[in-house]
Amino acid sequence: MGKNAPGYFGEFGGRYAPEILTEALEELEATYNKLKNNKKFKKELSYYLKNYVGRPSPLTYAERLTKEWGGARVWLKREDLNHTGAHKINNAIGQALVARHMGKKRIIAETGAGQHGLATATVGAMFGFETIIYMGAVDVKRQNLNAKKIEMLGAKILPVTSGEATLKEATSEAMRDWALNVSTTHYIVGSAIGPHPFPTIVRDFQAIIGRESKKQFRKEAKKLPDAVIACVGGGSNAIGMFHDFIDEKKVLLYGAEAGGLGSKPGEHSATITYGKTGFLHGTKTLIIQDDFGQIVPAHSVSAGLDYPGVGPEHAFLAKSKRVDYRMVTDEQAIASFLEISRIEGIIPALETAHAFYVAKDVAKQLGKKKDIIICLSGRGDKDVVEVLRLLGGEKHE
Ligand SMILES: *Cc1c(COP(=O)(O)O)cnc(C)c1O
Repeated sequence: MGKNAPGYFGEFGGRYAPEILTEALEELEATYNKLKNNKKFKKELSYYLKNYVGRPSPLTYAERLTKEWGGARVWLKREDLNHTGAHKINNAIGQALVARHMGKKRIIAETGAGQHGLATATVGAMFGFETIIYMGAVDVKRQNLNAKKIEMLGAKILPVTSGEATLKEATSEAMRDWALNVSTTHYIVGSAIGPHPFPTIVRDFQAIIGRESKKQFRKEAKKLPDAVIACVGGGSNAIGMFHDFIDEKKVLLYGAEAGGLGSKPGEHSATITYGKTGFLHGTKTLIIQDDFGQIVPAHSVSAGLDYPGVGPEHAFLAKSKRVDYRMVTDEQAIASFLEISRIEGIIPALETAHAFYVAKDVAKQLGKKKDIIICLSGRGDKDVVEVLRLLGGEKHE
């Protein structure tokens, strides 16, 4: 496949998957290309997004935060108010519908923070699929409530104990399962990662975030926002938020990636800041690796950002400088988590707290009479116990 072939974003992206998956990826691409412009499919998708997820999610003016930060007006795109509490369900519903059209009976997924596992288990129950969730054993522990919910919904969790036992390993295991069970199974990839067509499919299903935001903001303010900010793990909420603004050259775009504990390998998940070009989970992108091309384990206080790669479109948007990606440390994210909870009455996900930290700088820098929109990717219930533990300095069990 050449650079300009579908699935490439500049030099990044493509399809570097094991041969055993080629047919499944081609089938998926063909089905998706047919469905995405199909009126009946679009109607079906919007039916579930409205009546099951609760879309459109509100765009909330954050009056107190605006005052506190003393700069630009702050608006929040409330993906935390979606059913299951995050943006993940937008993509899970879309892909579940595609799977149903392909006649698959079984769906599998990887999960980090558990939000994508929860979204997949939820649509699995709703549509009657057999559902398997691969989750790192470390994450099963630190995101135990989500793990319990996934089981409550009738899905099966297969804990992954290899390597760091987090999101990367869970993704590898899910890919292995898919390769073995391709005829019956659809793999609902949870972020804008993986071999083509996944980064495009996931982006398209998440693009509703930015599309709604643009419309809602235009109605309020009769203009475009001055800046849009989102956190970046694999990059699905961010690319969904950015997609409709990328060609609006006046709108500044910011991504917040996890700076973790420090700049040494193993201390962070800051793929764009520290990563080098390589191959991971079937795509060419920026990856945290050592001088020998070995992937270095990622770290972040938020399980959803704890991934050593990033979606290929973000690698491209970083290289072309359309998006300004900044690092936020664990400590800064926790400070923002507390600040937003206390000032705005919204407990954000720890992942989202990274975006708030960047937003505070941007708001101050832009100054009054400007407007910024933050993608509030998810709610923080899942993180309350972990944050209290970290603040209390208790030891890991
Ligand atoms: C999963 C998750 C993220 C990170 O994933 P992306 O694909 O980068 O969006 C961010 N926020 C929340 C609330 C999540 O659940």
